[in-house]
Amino acid sequence: MESHGTPLIDGFGRLHNNLRVSVTDRCNIRCLYCMPEKNVEFVPRAEILSFEEIERFVRIAAGLGVTKVRITGGEPLVRRDLDRLVRGLASIEGIREIALTTNGVLLAEQAEALRRAGLRRLNVHLDTLDRAKFVELTRRDELPRVLAGLEAAERAGFESIKINAVAVRGLFETDIVPLARFGREHGFQIRYIEFMPLDAQGLWDRSRVLLMEDILRVLGEEFGPLEPAPDPDPRAPALEYRFPDGRGSVGFIASVSRPFCLNCNRIRLTADGHLRYCLFALEETEVKSLLRGSAGDAEIRERIRRTVAAKWLGHEIQQAGFVPPPRPMYAIGG
Ligand code: SAM
Ligand code: SF4
Repeated sequence: MESHGTPLIDGFGRLHNNLRVSVTDRCNIRCLYCMPEKNVEFVPRAEILSFEEIERFVRIAAGLGVTKVRITGGEPLVRRDLDRLVRGLASIEGIREIALTTNGVLLAEQAEALRRAGLRRLNVHLDTLDRAKFVELTRRDELPRVLAGLEAAERAGFESIKINAVAVRGLFETDIVPLARFGREHGFQIRYIEFMPLDAQGLWDRSRVLLMEDILRVLGEEFGPLEPAPDPDPRAPALEYRFPDGRGSVGFIASVSRPFCLNCNRIRLTADGHLRYCLFALEETEVKSLLRGSAGDAEIRERIRRTVAAKWLGHEIQQAGFVPPPRPMYAIGG
């Protein structure tokens, strides 16, 4: 593969090889910790990067040492023919892993085609197995379709299916154990994600974060104490714990109680073509005009390098003066 000089190392010595690509800010449900219920302002379609523009960007990033791409959104499966993008990305030299984060609503129709296109890993977002509660959390009655999507994904033979569940204090406590049981039955790892200050309605408050230690305690009371699992990839954000009977494990994305910034290897491309060095960054670098204009690859490479070089040490959710980013989760790409 054509490599272009030194890899992407920031001012704190962190190597960046992981790119999250948001393909849309639109979504077919309205999770209350992400989107407003009504009057969501979406980016005009003409501003959204085409698959060809995304592929060009990923090819350039691969030349700088990016090896992993996660496709996200908004809801990526609302983007028509997403399997075409997966196939394009899978053919880029240097890209070794492609993953997708989805809410699963449209997965039943697309799982097979995505798997055939080269997608190997899936994260399906599901906070509850209770239909009425699902409607309360997402303002849409789509639980049956998400469950059908998971079944289709199992049949399609993905290498890994994980379930992302956002832990909001006062809402999520009763779902901890049913989800864990469901995960153990199907071989899905449940990933409990601490509620982050990225919601569009300003609901976030420190007191509304259900912490990893609280969830571990509830799981321990039900299944016996869980044991930390040896970490195969110390740069991955999740902390893994095994059930005491050896049947499966859970993961925690403890961004609030145990920030993992020191190990961060990620950059993010938004659906409207802005590059971000952190989910919580207050600044971003515009790359769409370069991808659309007459800029050569070298100019785009330079922007990627500059973005990584400008990266901060980490977010400061723990600090009193923390300022949330102007874009909510769905507009960044979680
Ligand atoms: N629509 C897809 C989905 O829901 O999986 C992909 C995009 S979504 C923004 C990516 C992930 O962000 C989801 O798994 C969701 O659980 C998580 N998420 C959304 N809002 C969050 C918040 N305020 N705090 C923590 N995680 C959040
Ligand atoms: Fe849509 Fe995902 Fe945000 Fe839920 S978390 S509203 S599914 S983008």
